[in-house]
Amino acid sequence: MAENNKHFKSLIDLVTFDQKAFEIQAAITKERTAMAKIQDSISALQTKVNVEKEILDQAHRLVKKHELEMKELDEKEKQKSKQLSIVESDKEYKSIKKEIDFLKSQQHELETTLVDTWNKLEQAQKKVELVQAETGTQIKELEQSLEKHQFVLAEIEKSAAVLASERRPQEEGIPPEWLEKYNMIRQQDTNPISYVVQDTCSSCFYPLTSQDLLNLKQKKLIQCRECYRFLFRKEDTADETH
Ligand SMILES: [Zn+2]
Repeated sequence: MAENNKHFKSLIDLVTFDQKAFEIQAAITKERTAMAKIQDSISALQTKVNVEKEILDQAHRLVKKHELEMKELDEKEKQKSKQLSIVESDKEYKSIKKEIDFLKSQQHELETTLVDTWNKLEQAQKKVELVQAETGTQIKELEQSLEKHQFVLAEIEKSAAVLASERRPQEEGIPPEWLEKYNMIRQQDTNPISYVVQDTCSSCFYPLTSQDLLNLKQKKLIQCRECYRFLFRKEDTADETH
């Protein structure tokens, strides 16, 4: 009996150990989730800035385009004015004058457009600066928080590695067939141990059969027929040295 009690104790210790490992894994997942969320927030803020930068670029391109058009109109007008100074006929003069007047009206229209695009460029520039100022602090804070999480994660991962290296010795003193069963349940359940309370499984409240109760009395390893957890009586797992 005492031998079996030792086996129970060893298995319970292993379960406790694995529970801790499971908690550490959960903590790692929690850190990674938090970090992914922060990364998303940073990306969203960066996108906000990029959208405004794109608007600014478009405004820049539009200003350049109109400025070039203006330059071309100026050139044309200059040429026409030169021609005007050397015309010989009245008819020719009138025709060129008409062209010059048309160019001037085009210049006038373009000037209005140009002023409008300059204003838009200025607004876009201000908006970029504003959004950069707004998001800059937020991004910095998020990056700092990310660094903290990275540090915490590294620490947890270190303890996970230590724990992983310690698991094998924990299996000592447990009969191989128990270990095999336990490892099988462990893949599906984070807590593969349940206690018998009033002849039922305390996890799922499934009643034990009389055969189960007899086996339990004989200190055999039994599993719940409903949830498949290992069933123990609390007193069987108590440390005998205490
Ligand atoms: Zn059960």
